[in-house]
Amino acid sequence: MSKRAERVVLALGSNLGDRTATLAGAVRDLVALPGAALGAVSPVYESAAVKLDGVDENAPRYLNCVVLIDYTGDPYDLLDAVNAIEAEHGRVRAERWGDRTLDIDIILFGKLVLDDDRLTLPHPRAAERDFVLAPWGDIDADAIIPGRGSVRDLLAATGNMVRRAADAPSAPFEGARQ
Ligand code: AMP
Repeated sequence: MSKRAERVVLALGSNLGDRTATLAGAVRDLVALPGAALGAVSPVYESAAVKLDGVDENAPRYLNCVVLIDYTGDPYDLLDAVNAIEAEHGRVRAERWGDRTLDIDIILFGKLVLDDDRLTLPHPRAAERDFVLAPWGDIDADAIIPGRGSVRDLLAATGNMVRRAADAPSAPFEGARQ
């Protein structure tokens, strides 16, 4: 286990069930993990579902947010914990492929670069996803994806189709700050 806390960027999405409650619960669970300390929680954004063959306007829309934590521990342990949180919130099932109560991606784990059968870091698709880049840029305006560029420039290149879901979207997460 690394003795030093690493800044970890996590992207959360939900397009089934009570999406706001699911995101708020997931943030609380992430912050409560052993070795985790809350850095920041982004506003909530809404986005169209992206499927294997592109945007699916008929699928339920996603709510998305980005969470920064300072994490002392092993990246694979964090992945296991993230998968357990997904499963815990995954009680709502859908027939359509890809819809899910909760999806959590590890976008960055400090400066770690990894590519194996369990974990790819930085997350390979984050640089093209407006629903990751927009909320992330709100809480870290100078963020960079190593090897890809600044979050600001990457977001501009996507066309940025996402919108904030509410005027005061971080309100559901107040409980997570304690
Ligand atoms: P998904 O169905 O999109 O949630 O994919 C989850 C799987 O992707 C996990 O079981 C991980 O093994 C794998 N994976 C690879 N890289 C990452 C990453 N950076 N963050 C989260 N999951 C990852």
